[in-house]
Amino acid sequence: MDPPPVPPPHVIIFPLAAQGHVNSMLKLAELLAISGLRITFINSEHIHHRLLRHAHIQAHFAAFPDFRFKIISDGFPIDHPRSPDHFMTTFNYVKSITKQLFEELVSAPDRPVTCIIADGILTFTIDFAGDLGVPVIAFRTISASSFWACFCIPRMIESGDLPLKGDEDMDRDVTSVPGMEDILRCRDLPSFCRVADLSDQLLQYVTTQTLQTTAARALILNTFDQLEGPAISQIRTQFPNLYTIGPLHSHLRSRLSSSSPSPSSASNSLWKVDRSCIAWLDKQPPKSVIYVSFGSITTLNRHDFTEFWYGLVNSGRRFLWVVRPDSLAEGSSGAVPEELKEAAAERGCIVGWAPQEEVLHHGAVAAFLTHSGWNSTLESVVAGKPMVCWPFFADQQVNSRLVSHAWKVGLDMKDVCDREVVERMVNEVMGERQEEFAAAAGDLARRARNAASEGGSSWDNLDRLIEDIRSMKP
Ligand code: UDP
Repeated sequence: MDPPPVPPPHVIIFPLAAQGHVNSMLKLAELLAISGLRITFINSEHIHHRLLRHAHIQAHFAAFPDFRFKIISDGFPIDHPRSPDHFMTTFNYVKSITKQLFEELVSAPDRPVTCIIADGILTFTIDFAGDLGVPVIAFRTISASSFWACFCIPRMIESGDLPLKGDEDMDRDVTSVPGMEDILRCRDLPSFCRVADLSDQLLQYVTTQTLQTTAARALILNTFDQLEGPAISQIRTQFPNLYTIGPLHSHLRSRLSSSSPSPSSASNSLWKVDRSCIAWLDKQPPKSVIYVSFGSITTLNRHDFTEFWYGLVNSGRRFLWVVRPDSLAEGSSGAVPEELKEAAAERGCIVGWAPQEEVLHHGAVAAFLTHSGWNSTLESVVAGKPMVCWPFFADQQVNSRLVSHAWKVGLDMKDVCDREVVERMVNEVMGERQEEFAAAAGDLARRARNAASEGGSSWDNLDRLIEDIRSMKP
């Protein structure tokens, strides 16, 4: 009699309940699922409800034979509004239920657990899983450079780079982040570093979570070797088991086109996508539009919103602008200044949520005015579009510096929101320096696609990661 077939490795994937984190960890989950692994994806009820209300997304995940969602609460009722202010409450709530959650998952006799891939900012998972004999691999959704800067916070404190000494200190070079001495000024450090008091709760939290990642069996980053070489080689000295497997969205596309049968790729968007902007783009001349989006959580105050309006209209360029229903900070009215209305109607298109990857690949789009979220940055890199960066918070301050100073594919307007600067930078990127930036962005896009194609560094690293998982005993 033949022995019973060996079940595939079973991986539990556990992201922080926020759009950017769920987005990239779902892509990782799909990459592992199409490689034949059994997946349980832990999702918050609130996000799950918003994600899977679309029939095509339900059908997409149902096409994977061994893919399941495990739904948990994030500590708030399903229809309660969410914002970054709720972060610590959610973190503490999820921490309080994780031990029991893992015990339940690990004791299911039909699905023995091989390992857990947990969001690298939920490092309490490492101890809880360790008690059950299950290894944890950490996944960080930010750039390698931002991760490395956070890892070096204790060195920055020891060397006196931190705390920052006020506004006059912001353009000083940071000397205590090895490998990044030529890139980072104080202004470019993650925004948590902008505190006078080193006991600040968020700074402490980010530092602790980042350092504790070393207790994980391995670390996965959504980047590729040629994009962030200096930071990646430094991180390798602390994390010998490092898997750089990005850009994940491009990697997923390559694997889907070479897998058989091949499920189609799906957008993991939590918002309702307004596709009318594609019809609008179809009517615009090639390379004539600047795409403007500040991601899924950034909010603008009235001053900044108005300055962007004037800057964009005064640039004389066509623009496609994503203004989410919750884009404006409380108390800021969203009205377009009266005197701009005619020009805006002639040259602008506004939507609540765009199919961003498709927009960035559209021939009418020449450049991207972005808040420098890591997913947006990678999507722009893969699409070969130059950027004008207006980083808002967290890791975005580092990413925008990479764009302007390491890769030289755009400009960084960090810490300034002024209509003349917006106008000047948009015109530089779309006009006088367009060829220079487009050539550099095209070169970077080729490298990104090569890394995520068969034989590329990210492709090979994912194969190694899968081998590592297959070698673990459930
Ligand atoms: N996005 C989108 N449509 C929009 C705006 C954003 O699909 O109109 C997606 C974008 O493609 C990216 C994500 O939302 O994948 C934003 O992630 P990012 O890391 O750039 O920023 P965050 O939202 O975390 O600040």
